[in-house]
Amino acid sequence: MKVTWEVDDGYVGGSRPHTTNIDELDIEDCEDIDEAMEMVRDMIQEDYDQKINWFITKEEEIKNKIADILENKKDEEEDEVDFGLPNGIYCPECNEEEDLIFRYSYANGDEYFCQNCKNTFTF
Ligand SMILES: [Zn+2]
Repeated sequence: MKVTWEVDDGYVGGSRPHTTNIDELDIEDCEDIDEAMEMVRDMIQEDYDQKINWFITKEEEIKNKIADILENKKDEEEDEVDFGLPNGIYCPECNEEEDLIFRYSYANGDEYFCQNCKNTFTF
């Protein structure tokens, strides 16, 4: 018995009928219609798994685009400017270097606030 089935992939016009041959002896072994239909569906699923495949259209093009995106990202990362504090500034109170916040720029130097000891100093 030939059973015709189609793939519903959500795209208009994409579907085309496929057929699976079901041995009538297998149907005779079934108790009722429900059991037979379950077997038919199982055999179609098996057929589907073996025959239906997807692949990427123009995979080389996609690979090149991905390479470009990753390359651009790398370039951007290299171009990133470090807006952090200049190295070598320490809090005169507690010697802390990491927890300093830049506050103001004055003629005689820059004012920093130390989050560690809450000290404000000019460097
Ligand atoms: Zn400090």
